[in-house]
Amino acid sequence: MAAVLDPAGRIISRARAKTRGWRDDEEVFSTIAGVGHRAIEHADIDIGSIAAVGMGSPGPIDFDTGYIIETANLKFKNFPLGPRIAEEFSRPTIIENDVNAAIYGEFKAGAALGANDVLGVFVGTGIGGGLILNGALYRGFGKGAGEIGHMIVKAGGPRCGCGNRGCLEAVASRTAINRDIRKAIAEGHRSIAAKELTKKNDVLSGKDLKSAYDSNDELVKKTVQRAAKYIGLGIGSLLNVLGSERVVLGGGVIEAFGDDFIKRIDETARDIAFEVNSKGVKIVRAQLGDDAGVIGAAMLAREALRDSEHD
Ligand SMILES: [Zn+2]
Repeated sequence: MAAVLDPAGRIISRARAKTRGWRDDEEVFSTIAGVGHRAIEHADIDIGSIAAVGMGSPGPIDFDTGYIIETANLKFKNFPLGPRIAEEFSRPTIIENDVNAAIYGEFKAGAALGANDVLGVFVGTGIGGGLILNGALYRGFGKGAGEIGHMIVKAGGPRCGCGNRGCLEAVASRTAINRDIRKAIAEGHRSIAAKELTKKNDVLSGKDLKSAYDSNDELVKKTVQRAAKYIGLGIGSLLNVLGSERVVLGGGVIEAFGDDFIKRIDETARDIAFEVNSKGVKIVRAQLGDDAGVIGAAMLAREALRDSEHD
């Protein structure tokens, strides 16, 4: 998705396209550039009035050079996406990790507005995270900080996509929930999900899981609640390390299961965190949905532009 924001940070136009990441670099690049041009057309403004371009992309990326080092869903390897977009639009361009951009959006205009230290956790097919420390996005020494999904919460647990075992993502993402339900059904557990699974090629969407959950399916309930507990363990531990002021929860799994899921996460996290690190901390749902990433990327681009003008 691409969007144009006005000086007040409001979205004035949007355009969407599917990246279809299996295609060649140049084809994917022209889709990305094309969706940007369409957003500018929809805004009905001259390209000259665009001040800067901000982008979010799955990482790892090099924020300083604008290169995508590699990503799981695209073929890009050391691709100069930032410099290429800067050339395409003749505008200063920044590129940020997509989850960081979304958390920055929530920090500037959404659920974390007004907080100075924010922990963001996005639970979907994977688990992404990001940190705002002392009012600024924290990238860390090697610029790869905030990988909350790859914190190990179960030593010797299931294998994660990253190669380690027992990462939060490997026990609490939608992928992990699906795997656990499939495994239990294969072992003979009864579940409403069983029929859906055979129909849907073994993958349950958030909606499928939610409807089984709401029908009080014991297996689905237990599995989803266990996922919430692991997320709570991770967040409670992080609160003790970071002393965050607000925790923002987003992503498809959070959206599907809503308040009950968040309540379980909240209870476990507060159980783990010392009182001094949990008292007054708000654990809230993300507010901006799909807009969070474009808003955050645009804000980061604007700030980078301001910093470069002051140099
Ligand atoms: Zn991992």
